[in-house]
Amino acid sequence: MQTEPRLCLTGVIAHHWGIRSFRPLQREAIDAVLSGRDSLVVLPTGGGKSLCYQAPAVFRQETTVVISPLISLMKDQVDGLRSSGIGAVQLDSSQTPEERIACGRELRQGRVRLLFLSPERLVQSETCELLKELEVRTFAIDEAHCISHWGHDFRPEYRQLRKLKEIFPAASVHAYTATATEQVRQDIIQQLGLVNPEILVGDFDRKNLTYRVVSRRGPLLRQVIDVVDRHRDEGGIIYCIRRSDVDELTQALIEHGVKALPYHAGLTSQQRSQTQEAFTDEKCDVVVATVAFGMGIDRSNVRYVLHTAMPKSLEHYQQETGRAGRDGLAAECVLLYSGADFFTWKAVIEQSAANQNADTSFLQNAIAHLREIDRYCRSALCRHQLLVHYFGQRYESDNCGACDMCMGDTISVPNALEVAQKILSCVARVKERYGIGHVSSILRGENLAAIREKGHDKLSVYGLLKESSQHDVREWIYQLISQGALFFEDIQSVSGHTYSILRLNQASWEVMRGTRSVRLIEPAKLKKGQPAKASSVSEKSWDGVDKELFEKLRALRRRLADERRVPPYIIFNDATLRELATVKPTSLVRMLSISGIGDTKLRDFGSHFLEVIVEHSR
Ligand code: ADP
Ligand code: ZN
Repeated sequence: MQTEPRLCLTGVIAHHWGIRSFRPLQREAIDAVLSGRDSLVVLPTGGGKSLCYQAPAVFRQETTVVISPLISLMKDQVDGLRSSGIGAVQLDSSQTPEERIACGRELRQGRVRLLFLSPERLVQSETCELLKELEVRTFAIDEAHCISHWGHDFRPEYRQLRKLKEIFPAASVHAYTATATEQVRQDIIQQLGLVNPEILVGDFDRKNLTYRVVSRRGPLLRQVIDVVDRHRDEGGIIYCIRRSDVDELTQALIEHGVKALPYHAGLTSQQRSQTQEAFTDEKCDVVVATVAFGMGIDRSNVRYVLHTAMPKSLEHYQQETGRAGRDGLAAECVLLYSGADFFTWKAVIEQSAANQNADTSFLQNAIAHLREIDRYCRSALCRHQLLVHYFGQRYESDNCGACDMCMGDTISVPNALEVAQKILSCVARVKERYGIGHVSSILRGENLAAIREKGHDKLSVYGLLKESSQHDVREWIYQLISQGALFFEDIQSVSGHTYSILRLNQASWEVMRGTRSVRLIEPAKLKKGQPAKASSVSEKSWDGVDKELFEKLRALRRRLADERRVPPYIIFNDATLRELATVKPTSLVRMLSISGIGDTKLRDFGSHFLEVIVEHSR
């Protein structure tokens, strides 16, 4: 049954989505679907992957099956599609038999363009029969990296998708992911049995994100509040390593007047979904979470992601920061780092490897990932460039204007070699038998019993760095370790405790002789009360926007969403609101030129927004 008028592809996209130009590779990805050629599409989060399989289904007026890992993700997509006037349903384990029968009926009537399924449900014989009857010829696999155990998010149930090509040999299969490593890519192709696939890999640079790595110092809460206060009333996610930190920080933020909620695996599933819902509905601004929070968050206007400690790999970091700014507008990613994070994680990983009897390659792999991100945190190079290089791509610009390094938040220590020589000499003087605490106390000339008892206050290195803070001296020691000019060795004490002492190597002596250079960094001193610099992307994304009008439109969106019991982004995303608050269209026809406003949404919401714009402009 064909009920929709025939439009050309771009007409269909403008009509339903209000999208009038393609993002990079969307056109190519859509062509692959239309020509029935298998494809693997790797685009960063927010790159617009869903349009690649949704648009062809609507254009061809036939049912495409979408495999998705989470019921909540499916639900968000189904709601979004329906609000744009597109037939969409999901079949999942939470439904009653009656609901499933109703879905089947709707499917047979030929009005459904997108059918969302979990991998388990797809391979059930009942479902296969139905799909054969419907003559489905296109399958889209969302979050396709879940099939690979090399990825960071392996899901065993995705392995069942290997049968897809056997059951439906004539259908084309299209895999979508934001995880880019070559190994995972090859694994996806092989596991799914893709035939001569079109492989499309997008640009991994998230230009709208500003990255900052900030040294963790002083009370954590103060550093957190600094970031939260720059983003008052905006959506943010704060990641902690431990559940207890999540609870404490949430409480402290609430006392500070922030609408914050906790999320971690120790909460009941009801509490977790309440947090998730409040966040999506913009009733809560900040979620404080362990890494358990993430997949299934479809709030596109997350304006910042804050890590209170280093994550355990750059893949995790990319994934977690990727949740910021999915609407394409500027967002900030702050990582509060300490050189101790590496060792905290190393201990955690070693412990869990021992508990699970994991093979040594697992441990080596995990530690290698840890080293990569540790190097990233300590590096004095552009963050955008480092991330893009890590994911195997070239980076052209030499100043991104959107990271702590390029914006001058951090400065190189001018006499780094001299400082390094003082530190290394101190390690040599105490005969490589002490840890970081004792060594830094000697260098700072601290008046401690532990130092006097050993006569270390008589050493020539005593007090050589007395002008520097304890924090800086420790950080420099960690920086020397990461540059290979010093290393930790674990020692068992008589009481059975393990502790780490600082040891020298070949490179240390080269530095002491001055034949090897080092780079040490310290944070640029902000004057008291001086706010953090805004990046050029963040300034640009507010260019010409009437902020007062934007806030009014946001309030209207929240009210309409409440009345309809849908999340606000289902109505319009922030990019659309900002464009409305810039262009200030004064008629419904003019509104149609705004990105994100298609015919259905114009009909449903146009006059409400028009009224507020006209009223405001008066
Ligand atoms: P991904 O799945 O790749 O993370 P989505 O498909 O969720 O990204 O798209 C992110 C946002 O970008 C959505 O709000 C979507 O409507 C919007 N979008 C997608 N393609 C375009 C486009 N060509 N122009 C403008 N907005 C787009
Ligand atoms: Zn940069």
